Amino acid sequence: MRYYGSVYRPPSEAYSLIVQVTYGCSHNTCAFCSMYKEKHFALRPLEEILEDFRTARQLYRHVDKVFLADGDALVRKAAELYTILDTVRELFPECQRVTSYASPSSIRIRTDEELQTLCAKGLTMVYMGLESGCDEVLTLMRKGHSAAEIVEMGQKVRRNGIALSVTAITGLGGPELLERHAVDTAKAFNAMNPEYIGMLTLMVEPGTPLYDWLQEGKFQLLDQSQVLRETRLLMEHLDSPGSVFRMNHASNYLVLKGTLNQDREAMLRTIGAAEHDLSRLRPEAWRGL
Ligand code: SF4
Repeated sequence: MRYYGSVYRPPSEAYSLIVQVTYGCSHNTCAFCSMYKEKHFALRPLEEILEDFRTARQLYRHVDKVFLADGDALVRKAAELYTILDTVRELFPECQRVTSYASPSSIRIRTDEELQTLCAKGLTMVYMGLESGCDEVLTLMRKGHSAAEIVEMGQKVRRNGIALSVTAITGLGGPELLERHAVDTAKAFNAMNPEYIGMLTLMVEPGTPLYDWLQEGKFQLLDQSQVLRETRLLMEHLDSPGSVFRMNHASNYLVLKGTLNQDREAMLRTIGAAEHDLSRLRPEAWRGL
């Protein structure tokens, strides 16, 4: 298998066969993100992708899941995506799931018919970053899309039969926008009603604009109590029946897992217990991205 540069994948793709179909991220300007800074966005030659799948078939006896990396697989031509998915199905009949990251821009260029065909050919789920439902936070963080645009694209994915996993980031509005970030993010999740909701907690990495703003005193991180207050507000406003909620990433201080809305009260009790006893939180030194 051949990989170019650092390869990122969602935590739930830890055991997936990962093949790059693009390199980098087509947006690559979010102020908090350092993921694909070392490479320019490019489409990987189709024949190389197919070769990697053929190589993987020789190497692995059982491939349950496939993740199409890097940041924006859906930006490829529909016909090429169909060829990739047909090849996966042909080579790995045992494969249960094919997933990729998808940006609002790449979903926008796909017609409903194309998304339905991608679904029929085995694209099971896409991961999309909402980051925040608050437009002020999205503008500050240079996300390049409004919350309404992201929500619309999430809804488009779901109505065409592809499952949706959406993430947002606690603390992304700093103390100033804490309440609006929490409430508007919950509203955006509710409007999409995705199969999976994932919450990360902001960690600032060197080399990003956000790191510089932090050094210059233009941005403040939340302390642990504020993170919990924001998480409580988010949880209180979530109304997304059936969505699996996960806040179990290494960046999170508090681990929360459950299915909405049925487990919301239990998760609120877990938040309450942590608010009364901060020693329940993951120590700062153990956090990571
Ligand atoms: S957060 Fe996602 S869209 Fe933004 S630069 Fe990073 S990879 Fe690209």
